[in-house]
Amino acid sequence: MVKIEIETDRCIGCGACVNACPVSLYEIVDGKAKLAGNTDACILCRACESSCPVGIIKVTE
Ligand code: SF4
Ligand code: SF4
Repeated sequence: MVKIEIETDRCIGCGACVNACPVSLYEIVDGKAKLAGNTDACILCRACESSCPVGIIKVTE
């Protein structure tokens, strides 16, 4: 099962993760990233992790 952690306290709301994820698993709510859908859809491409300028996204299996 895929686990996605976002260290929300440090999120700057840039939206890079929203743009990077091919299966649209992120949205920005009140200036912070949050998961927008079922993480089962994650294809483990790790584009979100590498897109985040402050390195606060962690994807694990
Ligand atoms: S690893 Fe890829 S598919 Fe999974 S949440 Fe990140 S960008 Fe989306
Ligand atoms: S890429 Fe990182 S800093 Fe930017 S909105 Fe997503 S989690 Fe927040």
